[in-house]
Amino acid sequence: MDSQGNASGFDRSLIYPYAFRHSFAQRHADAGTPVDVLRELMDHDPKTTMGYHRVSLKRKRKAVATLSLMVTDRSGAAMPCSATAYEQRSVAVPFGGCTEPSNVKAGGHACPIRFQCSGCGFYRPAPSSLPAIEDHINSLRADRETARAMDAADFVVDDLTAQIDSYQRVAAKARERTAAMPDHEQAELEEAAALMRRLRAGGDHELLPLTVVTKRDSR
Ligand code: SF4
Repeated sequence: MDSQGNASGFDRSLIYPYAFRHSFAQRHADAGTPVDVLRELMDHDPKTTMGYHRVSLKRKRKAVATLSLMVTDRSGAAMPCSATAYEQRSVAVPFGGCTEPSNVKAGGHACPIRFQCSGCGFYRPAPSSLPAIEDHINSLRADRETARAMDAADFVVDDLTAQIDSYQRVAAKARERTAAMPDHEQAELEEAAALMRRLRAGGDHELLPLTVVTKRDSR
């Protein structure tokens, strides 16, 4: 698309089979696939595989620097920080960043108030958190319907409603801030957010055991 939103043709001379191989390797490196696994997948020598991980690290630093400028508190007030502070003093939790010291120390696994982030003073959402926040709002709505069907006490339904409302306010502020940015900054932000989402997803999932099949000599 051009800046007016019109479809612009992609230069077909830039599409060639080796580019698919290169993209495959870079996307694995960006998603946190370990060097030895990627080396086996690509049948590379170690130095070549490390090249993809160096690019990945560089892109991650750039993405962190971009996102650190867009961090807010739960009410949507800007809380920009340096990329170093973003990485050292916060930890990724399901719906954004957390700066609560004991939880940061525990790698994000020791939230004292059961991850009710939108009501917490230590919550630091960034635009990259938006898809996770929207998913969470949908799942809270489903929980509320289940609670009603179970004839749960009012306080249970009220608590779910309060959480839905507060996450909706966080999401609205994130959309508002993003929409106010010029197109090129929005594109840069989206690229950084997508990379961080891939890294977080890759960091948490269990890798399936990789079986390397080597050809036997034909007899
Ligand atoms: S609720 Fe607060 S302390 Fe808990 S994970 Fe969310 S931001 Fe951190």
